[in-house]
Amino acid sequence: MNSQTRERKRDASKKSWAEPWKVKVVEPTRWTSREYRQERIEEAGYNTFLLKSEDVYIDLLTDSGTTAMSDYQWAGLMLGDEAYAGSRNFYHLEANVQKYYGYKYVVPTHQGRGAEHLVSQIYIKPGDFIPGNMYFTTTRVHQELAGGAFVDVIIDEAHDPQSEHPFKGNIDLEKLEDLIKKVGSENIPYVSLAATVNMAGGQPVSMKNVREVHEMCDRYGIALLLDATRAIENAYFIQQREDGYRDKKVAEILLEFCSHTQGSWMSAKKDSLVNIGGWLALNDPGKFDEARNLVVVYEGLHTYGGLAGRDMEAMARGIEESVDDDHIRARIGQVEYLGNKLLDWGVPLVVPIGGHAVFLDAPRFYPHIPQDQFPAQTLAAEIYIEAGVRTMERGILSAGRDPKTGDHRYPKLELVRVTIPRRVYTQAHMDVTAEAIEEVYWNRDRAKGLRLVYEPQYLRFFQARLERMD
Ligand SMILES: *Cc1c(COP(=O)(O)O)cnc(C)c1O
Repeated sequence: MNSQTRERKRDASKKSWAEPWKVKVVEPTRWTSREYRQERIEEAGYNTFLLKSEDVYIDLLTDSGTTAMSDYQWAGLMLGDEAYAGSRNFYHLEANVQKYYGYKYVVPTHQGRGAEHLVSQIYIKPGDFIPGNMYFTTTRVHQELAGGAFVDVIIDEAHDPQSEHPFKGNIDLEKLEDLIKKVGSENIPYVSLAATVNMAGGQPVSMKNVREVHEMCDRYGIALLLDATRAIENAYFIQQREDGYRDKKVAEILLEFCSHTQGSWMSAKKDSLVNIGGWLALNDPGKFDEARNLVVVYEGLHTYGGLAGRDMEAMARGIEESVDDDHIRARIGQVEYLGNKLLDWGVPLVVPIGGHAVFLDAPRFYPHIPQDQFPAQTLAAEIYIEAGVRTMERGILSAGRDPKTGDHRYPKLELVRVTIPRRVYTQAHMDVTAEAIEEVYWNRDRAKGLRLVYEPQYLRFFQARLERMD
C-alpha cells in the first residue's frame, strides 16, 4: 500500500509545533512517596510557599525568576561590568527598554516590587485613589503603604471564571469615569493598568481598551501607568484575537501598547527571561528625577538599582529574546496545551486559558468548603500530596484583610494558579501535571478545608500557616 492509497489517520491541517530551542544543561528532579509529601505539607503549614524546593517534583508555583536562560544570556553574564557607577550593562539595558518598550527614562530595580515602591512613593499622596484593572498583591500593598486606596475598575466579566470574553483584563470605562467624578481627578494620581491581569487568570487588555483609557485619562489630566510585567504575553493575545493585528509582530504591538502610557514598572523575572531584575521607566523628566533620587535610598545607585552588572546584561539580552514571535507562541502554546487537556477531561478552570498559567476554579472542585476555610489553599495542598506538583493559591488567603475593618477580603475568584516557568519543563511534565490534577478532581468529595494558625501582617499568603479542619 503506498501513501496515496492509504487513508490518512491524522488531521494534516493540525500541525504540531515544537519549542524553538533545545536543552543544553539539565537539573535532576526527585520523585517522593505520598506519605513523605503528606508529612512535608503538614510541616509547611499547608502553605506551598513554605515547602523546600528539593521536596517538589514539578515546580509550578510561579513563573517569577524561574526561567531557564539562553546560552546568549549566560554568555552575557561573563561580560558583567561590576563598576559601582556607570556600568556598561546598565546602558545596554536602558537602550533595550527604550527600543522595545519606547519609554524615555529608565531606573533599574532589584525586582518588580522595588519599582512599585518607587512609583507609589513618587505619585501617591495620603488620601489618593488608584483605579486599576484588578489588584495585584505587591502592587496594592505599596499603594496602601504610600497612603493610597486601590479601586478595582476592571470589567465585570473578569470576576466570572466562566465568561469567554477575549479581553477580560479590560478596564470598564464607565466605572473609571464614575470614580473620577466621585472623588475628583486631583485625587487620582494615575490609573494603574496591568497587562496581562495576573489575578484575573492571566487575562489580556485589548489595544482598543488601552487607547480609550488613554483618551479618558488625557481628558481628566490623569497619568496612565502600566504594570508591564507580562505586556509581551498581552501583545501576543492582541495579535491572536484583535482585528487588525494578525499580521503585526509582537514587538510592534508592544511598542504601540506602551505608547498609550506614560510609564511602566516591570518585574523582569517574568517576560524578560531572567532570574532577578526589574525597572521603572517614565517619560516625565520631573518624575524620573524623583525616581532616580529615591532609588539611591532604597535599591542602590541609579545605574545598578540593587543588581549586579551581569544581572542587567542578562536582562538586556532577555528583552531581545522575549519579543521574538516564535518564543512567545511556544511559551503560551505550552500553557494552552496543559489547559486544553484539563478542559477535555472536564476539570473546572478559568477560561479563556491565561498567558502564564492555568487557573483552577476551586469552588467548583470543593462546593462543600466555605471560602473562609480556604478552598483554593486546600486544592494546592492536595495537588502537592498527589504528585509533588507545587502550585499557588490565588484566593481569599492572597486577598488578605481590609486595612480598615480587619476582616478577610472575600474575592469573587478563588483560584489555584498552575504557573508555567519559561523554557523549563517539557510536554511530558505537562502530562504528569494534568493527570495529577484530574486525580485530585476525581477525589474532590473527600477534601477537608483549612484553618489559619499563624498570619503575618503583610502579604500573608507568603508565610501563613494552616492546619486541616477535623
Ligand atoms: C510578580 C509581579 C509583580 C511584582 O514583581 P516582583 O519581581 O515579584 O517583585 C508585580 N506585578 C505583577 C503583575 C506581577 O506578576
